[in-house]
Amino acid sequence: MPLNDDDFMRYSRHLLMGDIGEAGQEKLTQAKVLIVGLGGLGCPVALYLAAAGVGHIDLCDPDRVDKTNLQRQVLYRTEDCGELKVACAKDRLQALNSGITVNALAREVDVEILAGPPLTESYSAVIDCTDNVAARQLINTACYQQKTPLISAAAVGWEGQIVAFDFRHYRRLCFSCIIDYKSTEPMMNCANSGVVGPVLGVMGSLQSTAVMRMLLGFFEQHGELQRYDGKRGQWLTMQCAVDPRCPICGPTDS
Ligand SMILES: [Zn+2]
Repeated sequence: MPLNDDDFMRYSRHLLMGDIGEAGQEKLTQAKVLIVGLGGLGCPVALYLAAAGVGHIDLCDPDRVDKTNLQRQVLYRTEDCGELKVACAKDRLQALNSGITVNALAREVDVEILAGPPLTESYSAVIDCTDNVAARQLINTACYQQKTPLISAAAVGWEGQIVAFDFRHYRRLCFSCIIDYKSTEPMMNCANSGVVGPVLGVMGSLQSTAVMRMLLGFFEQHGELQRYDGKRGQWLTMQCAVDPRCPICGPTDS
């Protein structure tokens, strides 16, 4: 669908850019993305992608807003406490940009959701903003099988990390390669260890940027892990290695 007059005004700062322009904005407008988890990462991701004009955004999270969320989850207000996060988020995003479609899915992520919106192929990208290994594994497996780009991030305390996989073009190296999936140790998370709000903002902004690169067609960092130490203000970038015994992308499943 071509851009209308409102779009030309709204997205004028994209249209000025040679590597986005009208063709790039149309790619964003036609994209369908799924954000899993509307917490400290999902809030900035949803805001930036809605503002950027990503045309169809599905929001998945079963939780309700709690007062302890307000220190970092920037979509919600004090009066939202007790309300469904996805319902509040949808209202805010549609107020920001009524030209896009936002759907609220108030339940745990599952294979049915990950299969994509009804009557379409799979999502253009899935953004993993969850805080538990089981959900991350489920999302990774579905994205790998459906060749859907996956952008995953996490943050605890002062530290954040992000890794993204372009499964459209790369069939080796996935999220399961880089975590100890047999570990029974409980994961550190924001609920038991605390987290600094702006660190989540940094990681969510990086996720949004990676999504835009994926959608615009110039993402080249498959399996590159970036770590941010907010306390020291330092970055570390490393290329993850393929696990040849990975149950998802290993030799038996090409
Ligand atoms: Zn793998």
